[in-house]
Amino acid sequence: MPQEDHVYSYSAVLMGSPILLKLFQHNEHLAHQVFRLIKHYENLLTVNRSPSEVMNINHAAGLHPVVVNPAVYQLIKCAKAASLLPNSAFNLAIGPLVKCWKIGFQGSSVPPAGEISARLALTSPHQVILDDEQHSVFLAQAGMELDLGAIAKGYIADRVRDFLHSQQVFQGLINLGGNVQTLGGASQVSGTPWSVGLKKPFAGPDELIGVIEVEGKSVVTSGTYERWFEFAGKRYHHILDPRTGYPLDNELHSVTIVSQDSIDGDIWTTLMYGMGVEQGCACLANKPGIEAIFVTKDRRVVLSSQQLFTFTLQDSSYQLV
Ligand code: FAD
Ligand code: MG
Repeated sequence: MPQEDHVYSYSAVLMGSPILLKLFQHNEHLAHQVFRLIKHYENLLTVNRSPSEVMNINHAAGLHPVVVNPAVYQLIKCAKAASLLPNSAFNLAIGPLVKCWKIGFQGSSVPPAGEISARLALTSPHQVILDDEQHSVFLAQAGMELDLGAIAKGYIADRVRDFLHSQQVFQGLINLGGNVQTLGGASQVSGTPWSVGLKKPFAGPDELIGVIEVEGKSVVTSGTYERWFEFAGKRYHHILDPRTGYPLDNELHSVTIVSQDSIDGDIWTTLMYGMGVEQGCACLANKPGIEAIFVTKDRRVVLSSQQLFTFTLQDSSYQLV
């Protein structure tokens, strides 16, 4: 008979998010090393306090390039490339808008239209000037600000996976507040997948639409229900449309991406948000490594394809398409 598995869970709060690590060994030292690694990247990438490498770049906007650590440089380069895809809803230079809406932070409000258009003018990704030799980043206009909130957790989840691999740990799970990266399966018996819940929008934390099962894959969800505020009867959520400066308004409540690397999941949730279900599915038809689960406001769950995961619907008020 196979030996029963023991899963050990370790938790922390980092990057303003609940962090959960699951291991098949009781190893507080390893868990501590993982949390220290996440903290290390938070300290480099945060835009919520100074100093950080990204804040140094933002403070030097319109003044001079800033040489950054090679890992930070590569992440910014990747974020810029995603921002320059045709009709991309992802924009690494969205910082001035994020800072004026303050969604998910104290003091959020609907900014005056004039302020939104003034800040939109400071968000061109073309104005993020990169120098591959120096590893420097220059924001060409004063007032520009990078915000890596839509990509950094994915990047960090992958670094945690790589670190665990370097420690000869090939099974486990890291959840960075909705950004899940799994290593191997959920049991020492092979062929047992991890179960990741697909949350029901605007419901209790344990209410699920269904369950996604994966092995050794990343599962990233972005939803309108995570960070939002209500004003004059209208909800405003934190995923902004870089073309208008207002929260993206379409048929979606959430997008989940299943992929190998979590950085791709993080980028593609935002890209899919911008495209919506129809265009999104058409786009992913040519991308076998990226699969999406769309949850629409009219209670449909749409799967772009299903090679990397299995999905079981649990809430019969939703329709699986
Ligand atoms: P995603 O959909 O992946 O990203 C949405 C976030 O990306 C927005 O919150 C905004 O920051 C930005 N964004 C909005 N629209 C766009 C767009 N069109 N293109 C690109 N980016 C966009 N939260 C706290 O409450 N306190 C903290 O101290 C704190 N520190 C953090 C430090 C780091 C290093 C990181 C990575 C995050 C931190 N956060 C903190 C959370 C952060 O503010 C975001 O809420 C979070 O990263 C959103 O992730 P998500 O997966 O929910 O959403
Ligand atoms: Mg994202």
